[in-house]
Amino acid sequence: MKKILIGTHNNGKFKEISALISKKYKKISPIKLNIKSPKETGKSFIANSRLKANFFSKFVDYPIISDDSGLCIQALNGQPGIYSARLAKKHGSFFNAMKFILKKMKKKKNRKATFVCSLSYKKHRGKMISVEGKLRGNISSKIIGKRGFGYDPIFIPVKKKITFGQMLKSKKIRMDHRFIAFQKLKKRIKI
Ligand code: IMP
Repeated sequence: MKKILIGTHNNGKFKEISALISKKYKKISPIKLNIKSPKETGKSFIANSRLKANFFSKFVDYPIISDDSGLCIQALNGQPGIYSARLAKKHGSFFNAMKFILKKMKKKKNRKATFVCSLSYKKHRGKMISVEGKLRGNISSKIIGKRGFGYDPIFIPVKKKITFGQMLKSKKIRMDHRFIAFQKLKKRIKI
């Protein structure tokens, strides 16, 4: 069976990306191979996903797909953006980070936000392909829903009335920023 390394230590992302890739591939986690994640020194989602793919490609001789994603909130000048995971780390949990965001957003009329995902794919010794997917939505007034991961319970996708945290996983993974990025990738490679 063909193998592919899903270059993320985030369990939520690992499951979402795995569900998008053909069943022909055995999906390998860097955690299983005891590979730590690289420092995210890039200044954009694309730069960080490329940096991760390059890093993981040193350890395996099969293809790699890596992701960098986050939540960009208009009224907060695009924050937390590429610092989405780091914000949760700083506050001790995603729940605390969401509480912090909602507090900052309390008096804001503009609740527009975008989930962004960059995916990079690299074959062993091959060139890298990078794509970006975006999904617009709004920040809810409360933390709602127990499904999903990360910032899902405060994000209401455009044209929907519920947060990603309330949405069935099977629905979320067919419409989110990762799915949009993946569709772009599929136009360029067979995966
Ligand atoms: P990084 O790509 O490892 O820097 O992490 C990005 C952070 O953004 C993750 O820790 C996620 O919690 C958050 N994030 C990215 N995509 C999603 C999503 O689909 N739902 C909720 N949070 C997300």
